[in-house]
Amino acid sequence: MAKILGIIGGGQLGMMITEAAKKMPEEISEIIVLDPTENCPASQVGATQIIGDFKDKDAIIELANKSDIITYEIESGDSDVLKSVESKSEINPSPETLKIIQDKFLQKSFLLENGILVPEFIEINDIEDIKSGIKKFGLPAMLKARRDAYDGRGNFKINSESDVQKAYDYFKGQPLLLEKFVPFSMEVSVIASRNTHGQIKTYPLVENIHEDNILRETIAPARVSEIITKKAELIAEKTMTVLKGAGIFGIEMFVTVDDNIVINEIAPRVHNSGHHTLQSSETSQFEQHLRAILGLELGSTKLICNSIMYNILGSEEFTGEYNPLKISESGVFLKMYGKKISKPMRKLGHINIIGENGESIDTLLEILQRIKPKTVVKPSK
Ligand code: ATP
Ligand code: MG
Repeated sequence: MAKILGIIGGGQLGMMITEAAKKMPEEISEIIVLDPTENCPASQVGATQIIGDFKDKDAIIELANKSDIITYEIESGDSDVLKSVESKSEINPSPETLKIIQDKFLQKSFLLENGILVPEFIEINDIEDIKSGIKKFGLPAMLKARRDAYDGRGNFKINSESDVQKAYDYFKGQPLLLEKFVPFSMEVSVIASRNTHGQIKTYPLVENIHEDNILRETIAPARVSEIITKKAELIAEKTMTVLKGAGIFGIEMFVTVDDNIVINEIAPRVHNSGHHTLQSSETSQFEQHLRAILGLELGSTKLICNSIMYNILGSEEFTGEYNPLKISESGVFLKMYGKKISKPMRKLGHINIIGENGESIDTLLEILQRIKPKTVVKPSK
């Protein structure tokens, strides 16, 4: 019988999960999202919305009462509350997996214990720990919030000893960890899926370009040697085997200057660097996520053609309503998230540039350069 799907978070990821779910009427009869913003992106594409905070216990209980199966688009949900509602609704990925992943210190400790390389790190309890960490790792070093970080907002790069106090104060007493700075040659990621029966499939390695700590561009496949691709995919498979959760996981990695791979972090959810799969792959990451949590056979992760995903970010210049974007180019797919208000660097949409006729990545990069001006968001009068 078709199930009612609950999603914690109805932003762009919840929206694209909803769109995929609507195409599976035999498996999913209704989608309910929990999100604090009225008329959230997912509700605009057919999800019923419960208006409430992601951490609101009563709202989560209401969602669990109404749903057969719950998943999430954000990792900041309260895993203990989720655990307490497991008797009302199945939850994937499991609250246990979420609890490990949502705390960067626990996550990195877990990976290390399982023999998976991560940058060196230590737990920070006071400012003295930072000073001794810097002695150990050298400078620069990355001070990070253990929880609730996104788009780099939970990071402070310490470049000199005189930054230590500023860095410590920036986090206002939040639990922290310090990491050795990795001088990487490239940032890459693997979108990996595991279904409730333990079947695992990974998507081909992609390359990620960040600007001001926010993902700007993903290039699929990553422009690295086959050896690195293979190494990254093996690490992703091993990670999925030890993690045990069901769903899509976005595994962010650094390729080091000596061609090793370390995991930066894992997101227990569909991931921005997997948006290209909407047009480039045999199965989109959103459909795959649903297949995984519902215990269906996983779809093919084959990349059909080269592709580039480019995020449309709110202009630094203004906050407010904006003019709709129009891009009509063959092979270019614009997806806007229906957010009414633009804010500096807010993720408002993305474009996928798809090499439908066998175009090379260099050709797709040229197309991106040409159409970039069309992706600039301007205020509406
Ligand atoms: P997201 O953008 O994925 O939401 P986040 O806020 O959780 O990220 P991280 O992924 O930890 O933050 O870091 C953001 C970016 O900062 C990374 O993509 C990378 O460019 C840089 N970075 C983080 N940790 C390190 C490190 N140890 N060494 C070098 N660069 C790092
Ligand atoms: Mg990250």
